[in-house]
Amino acid sequence: MAIILNGNELSARKREQIAQETRVFAAQHGRAPGLAVILVGDDPASSIYVRTKKNDCTQVGIRSFDHHLPEHTEAEEVLSLIKTLNADGEVDGILVQLPLPAHIDTQEVLLTIDPAKDVDGFHPYNMGRLLVGEPTILPCTPSGVMYMLREHSVEIKGKDAVIVGRSNIVGKPMALLLMMEHATVTICHSRTRNLDQKIAAADIVVAAIGKAEMIKGEWIKEGAVVIDVGMNRTEAGLKGDVSFEAAREHASYITPVPGGVGPMTRAMLLENTLVAARGHQKNRAAKT
Ligand code: NDP
Repeated sequence: MAIILNGNELSARKREQIAQETRVFAAQHGRAPGLAVILVGDDPASSIYVRTKKNDCTQVGIRSFDHHLPEHTEAEEVLSLIKTLNADGEVDGILVQLPLPAHIDTQEVLLTIDPAKDVDGFHPYNMGRLLVGEPTILPCTPSGVMYMLREHSVEIKGKDAVIVGRSNIVGKPMALLLMMEHATVTICHSRTRNLDQKIAAADIVVAAIGKAEMIKGEWIKEGAVVIDVGMNRTEAGLKGDVSFEAAREHASYITPVPGGVGPMTRAMLLENTLVAARGHQKNRAAKT
């Protein structure tokens, strides 16, 4: 029976550490780190995420600045707000809650954020730094997964890792981070053939698909580490991409849904804000 990688416990520990470091930062610089959160429209799930992020900030002593714009806001207005926040000395991080309404070009919005304030780690500059093996700000979900693996001393070097999903925010950066730790990585997606066989050969499985319980327990190799990023709302509640009960019979470690990767993602956003704030202060000091 697998050991559960408990994201609630691990993230509580991480948040406590961030709260302490935030107090030190505030004492040194006379201000708390600041995170600006932009929400366009009233998507219920996005509104919940934004509220949660704001509460998380308050809990660790990070200031949050809300920018809630109506659904029909012109793209120009969003870009102009980002430019203002880029220049604002109180703002260390800028987060644009995705998805944006269809009339706004997401890539253009992400490109407008100052890479030094890109606390989601989605700006092509930060993605590129990761690709060349010199990461600055890491995307929160893959970074949270790596934290969980490290905290449980899961060996990665030389292991065969299979990632299901090739999105920019999870699958691709996850692959790069595991490769940096010397795993041999296979990335699977919707056109992959014989997915079950690929998973059956994996020492580490990361599922980031968005399809409830698509990965069957019997596909999992004995002793494999299973990381379930998926969050799927079903009639039976929130489910991951992995059939948890069956998979835990085979895995050595497994993340539950809920209470696994999700809370770690939230904690890593706070860490990224603190890291951005330190960088911001350093740049200011260099200019004076
Ligand atoms: P995307 O929709 O951007 O990507 C999904 C990926 O899954 C795509 O690469 C797609 O392949 C692949 N896929 C779809 N169907 C199959 C299939 N039948 N077989 C193999 N691969 C398939 O999703 P995200 O990466 O944004 O998110 C993935 C999941 O993780 C979602 O449930 C999301 O809610 C959750 N999530 C959870 C987070 C957390 O903190 N826990 C954070 C971010 C996301 P293709 O590229 O070919 O279309």
